[in-house]
Amino acid sequence: MARTRHTLKAQARHADGTDCTHKLSPRGKPREAGCTGRHDYRAWCTCGTWEQTGDTRAALEYTHHTHRTNA
Ligand SMILES: [Zn+2]
Ligand SMILES: [Zn+2]
Repeated sequence: MARTRHTLKAQARHADGTDCTHKLSPRGKPREAGCTGRHDYRAWCTCGTWEQTGDTRAALEYTHHTHRTNA
């Protein structure tokens, strides 16, 4: 029986909900045209049963760890 993999995937989003795939300056400021900065993150797990949004990637990593531990 194959073991389900729990790998965290995260996508940064702008305030209007569109994906942010732009590069940011080291200080986290947008530096490309059309980029309004990272508002939040949408994260999901490769197992397909977990999805979450959060302000920081670190917070999502924490809740994902909890999900993986309890799965
Ligand atoms: Zn999972
Ligand atoms: Zn952007």
